[in-house]
Amino acid sequence: MATPTPAVDRQAQILVVEDEQEIRELICLHLLRLGFSVREVATGEDALKILQHQKFDLLIMDWMLPNLNGIEIVRHLRAHKVPTPVLMVTAKTEPSDIVVGLESGADDYITKPFDPAVLTARVRALLRRIDKLDPATQQPPDKMKVGELEVNFVTYEVSCCGTPIHLTPSEFKLIATLMQNQGRVLTRDRLVEEIQGEGISVVGRTVDTHVFGLRKKIGDCADVIETIRGVGYRVKAL
Ligand code: CA
Repeated sequence: MATPTPAVDRQAQILVVEDEQEIRELICLHLLRLGFSVREVATGEDALKILQHQKFDLLIMDWMLPNLNGIEIVRHLRAHKVPTPVLMVTAKTEPSDIVVGLESGADDYITKPFDPAVLTARVRALLRRIDKLDPATQQPPDKMKVGELEVNFVTYEVSCCGTPIHLTPSEFKLIATLMQNQGRVLTRDRLVEEIQGEGISVVGRTVDTHVFGLRKKIGDCADVIETIRGVGYRVKAL
């Protein structure tokens, strides 16, 4: 099945870190088919070595690795201000585990066994997100449109199918954060951190209440926001 691939995806350099040879080869095969440039390593130590002298657009990281595991690698990278997006591959399916993975700095996750089509869709979603950032500042653009939902981060205007929507400051921050992180799963804690401040105080499950209110207001555009059960929320990568 040949799917047209945007030029940026073709040039993207991806590092695959996975100790199980069969799975590693499977992942690489699917990425190569899509025209990505792929390097592969079996251990976290080798991953860190390569990352010292080569830049990648995306890391696909197995969680359970011998010695240094995927979470420790992501924490290490984030502590050293390496911003490369990380897609975590994990056999863990408990929401509490997933939350740990995302809080450590991973951008998205996929659980084993996975459908290769889902893997490549997630990869492309994360790459598209980087592509949208202004290369000079790594900042998101002034406005974004996902489906029929349009958000202007400068004028604070939000509209669905061209109809203006009036949001509270916390609802606006919530949708702005989710949009600017399109394709990434954001945990509840992360969202609380983002929308806190400037006279806004949020705790725990009230994030769910804010999302509920937000979805109601954006009406026909509500399905742009996906609920990741027990974990958090994500704006769909369309
Ligand atoms: Ca493993």
